[in-house]
Amino acid sequence: MHELSITEHILQYALEEAQKIGAQKIRIIRIVLGPFSGLVPECIQMYLDLLSEGTIAQGAKIEAQILPLKVRCRDCGKESEITRRHIACPYCGSLRLQVLSGKEFYIDSLEVDVNEYKSPSSSHGME
Ligand SMILES: [Zn+2]
Repeated sequence: MHELSITEHILQYALEEAQKIGAQKIRIIRIVLGPFSGLVPECIQMYLDLLSEGTIAQGAKIEAQILPLKVRCRDCGKESEITRRHIACPYCGSLRLQVLSGKEFYIDSLEVDVNEYKSPSSSHGME
């Protein structure tokens, strides 16, 4: 599918961010996916393995977090997040649900190696 272009985007972003903080190696790239994003984390990992060869992201692992599905019940009107396999309104049990989200995709965080001692865990607020 479109994992290849997504992975190019992820890799470029990761390399830029790593460069900003002077990282020597990218270990983990954490991404967040909606359940209907159409993206398969294993495919992204496979493309990353290919694309990252010779870069500091070589060998980096993709860690994907799948978001719950946001729905609105057409019967009782309540909004809820569904993580179970059985998709039904948690309030009234209705199966008539409108899907509000599910195609999200974004890069959450990176885990990198930095040689200098510059608080390795803080990923924001650095200039
Ligand atoms: Zn309901």
